[in-house]
Amino acid sequence: MANLKEMSPFEAVTYYFDQACDRLVIREEVRDLICTSDREMRVEVPVRMDNGDLEVFIGYRVQHNNCRGPYKGGVRYHPEADEEEVRALASLMTWKTALVGIPFGGAKGGVQCDPQGMSPRELQTLTRRFTRSISQIIGVNDDIPAPDVGTNSQTMAWMMSAYAEEHGYSPGVVTGKPLELGGSVGREQATGRGVSLIINEAAKDLGIPMENSKCAIQGFGNVGSWTAWYLSEIGSTVIAVSDVNGGVYNVQGLDLDQLKTHVENTGSVLGFNDAEAITNDELLEMECDFLVPAALGGAINSGNASKIRARMVVEGANNPVTPGGEMILNDQGVTCLPDLLVNAGGVTVSYFEWVQNIQRFPWNLDRVNNALEEIMIRAYREVQTMTVRDNITYRDAAFSIAVGRVAQALELQGLP
Ligand code: GLU
Repeated sequence: MANLKEMSPFEAVTYYFDQACDRLVIREEVRDLICTSDREMRVEVPVRMDNGDLEVFIGYRVQHNNCRGPYKGGVRYHPEADEEEVRALASLMTWKTALVGIPFGGAKGGVQCDPQGMSPRELQTLTRRFTRSISQIIGVNDDIPAPDVGTNSQTMAWMMSAYAEEHGYSPGVVTGKPLELGGSVGREQATGRGVSLIINEAAKDLGIPMENSKCAIQGFGNVGSWTAWYLSEIGSTVIAVSDVNGGVYNVQGLDLDQLKTHVENTGSVLGFNDAEAITNDELLEMECDFLVPAALGGAINSGNASKIRARMVVEGANNPVTPGGEMILNDQGVTCLPDLLVNAGGVTVSYFEWVQNIQRFPWNLDRVNNALEEIMIRAYREVQTMTVRDNITYRDAAFSIAVGRVAQALELQGLP
């Protein structure tokens, strides 16, 4: 057996990919072709900072696979968004789009920077320059970026505008845009809504009534905050949330409306009234039904997995549980629902946004939400059926379904 003690993110995704290939008996040459990236671009992004200094940031766009449609995936702004991490995240997008059955491949972008410490002007300059550097390989039918950690709808507006300067008006070149520029209703909330839909389905299977359930959420950005909102809407009590600075806890449940106002006013969940301050580690070790790591990769690992007391770990972020950590969770009987299923709501509504852009025909919120729900529940049921039938983990089932679809698409196109 492979040494599961803390693999790098790309080793981890390749490990699951290999397991799926073994299970599906995929031919060696097909396996080799789809394991690695189709194209990896590294660019220098020089930015004149507000203090007059020239800083050179390093950016990447990794296109992993496009057998099933144009490359698709977010752009991350984070000091640790290096080549290895972006490569792993690009691969994960290939499996995510295949699992939910939307006609895209997988890609990811990243710029190694700390967006918290940058002014809006610096961020706009960085984004426009990065977009120009990768503009030859992205496009409405080629590769469609979207928001991820450290980026948002404003970043997408700048990307769309910088791309248009060279290529003309093309709203479908990025998704996750502001509504005023061709974004989709429901996109902002989509990932969190998807997370709560999956939890609701899984809770039925595990016999956990939502009304008596408790959840803890690590990360209070786009994914974490909307997940908290939707989980409380379907009856769960949100007992703890956290951000990079630390967390807050109240066993009776946090008042999310007040918490939202507090975060808007202070920039953090810390210092929220009516709650006890906790650390991020304490949040992860909280006794609850659903623990949602919705921050960065590697949060639950072989060092802390034995301390998890949740019944279910639900991966709102990408790669928050390492393979070593998951093995320990499995041994403890903690169900782990994998990222490629759980957080696929974001890219699914990105797909709807792209469809609306190329058809020049906007949808209403009901249509977006109904179509999202149908796709998420169908994907969950397919994964759950295989998990039970083959007595494997949810992650192994999700990878098997996804890898099988990509391999089949490649075979049908004919190998050279
Ligand atoms: N960054 C999100 C993800 O990891 C969304 C990607 C997209 O919408 O293309 O799934």
